[in-house]
Amino acid sequence: MAMDEVFENLRKLQDILSEKITLEQDIQEIPKLLVTQEELLARLKKSFIEKNQDYEKAKVAENEFRNLLINAESEREKAEKNMDVINTQREYEALDKEIHDSAEKEQQYRKDLQREERLLADLDEQMKQSTALIEQQEAELAERRSGIEVEISEKKARIEELAKEEEALNPDLDSEVHFKFERIIRNKMGQGIVAIRGGVCMGCHMILPAQFANTVRQGEEIVFCPYCSRVLFYEEAEQGEEEFFDNDDSGSLADLDDMEEDDYDEDEEEEEKVGSDFED
Ligand SMILES: [Zn+2]
Repeated sequence: MAMDEVFENLRKLQDILSEKITLEQDIQEIPKLLVTQEELLARLKKSFIEKNQDYEKAKVAENEFRNLLINAESEREKAEKNMDVINTQREYEALDKEIHDSAEKEQQYRKDLQREERLLADLDEQMKQSTALIEQQEAELAERRSGIEVEISEKKARIEELAKEEEALNPDLDSEVHFKFERIIRNKMGQGIVAIRGGVCMGCHMILPAQFANTVRQGEEIVFCPYCSRVLFYEEAEQGEEEFFDNDDSGSLADLDDMEEDDYDEDEEEEEKVGSDFED
């Protein structure tokens, strides 16, 4: 096959592989878009659990204060009843102090109880809001996940199409070249075949040895840049650059031209001979 065709196939392969690699990267990256949302959801759930723990604690405290209040109440009531059966001033004073103390405790416990009740109501409200937010986030996340699944399966379908296109090129490509070329494209961000112009690789801009430039120009085999590993094809240099190219190895280039002409001439001569033989 002519080198031009090989290069053309490599360019087709380059397009296919570039698209395939981009799609593969997308498939890897897309789920990462959900990470922020997943983290938010995890934080919401953690905060809900903490609030729930606070709620349980407040519930215990509320119970304790309620019992303490009931006890203080019954102690005060008992002391008030005993007021009816006392005989001395001393007994009166003791009971009066008891009633007073119990009433003070009652007041304190009532305040504590109310505080816990308010806390419970507050936590209950917060937990309801958290639950609503969690549900909303879960729904959004589920929706985005299924959207992403669709997107990924579309990209996978496209990759399969590309694989078929890639396969269709295979009969015209050496499998080792194909393998190497794919590796170059993966490493060089999509550019696997570049021109050599004025003895310089247009991929890595390194000046290549003259023999390389010549081999590329001859177009008889696939040549990989020794610096960046890209496939090289020959492109006519602009004036000035050409001089640099020719100066390096003009002798061998001239030899090559002569050889080609010689071959061509011989073929022609043979054909002429055959022609004349036939006529005879
Ligand atoms: Zn290079």
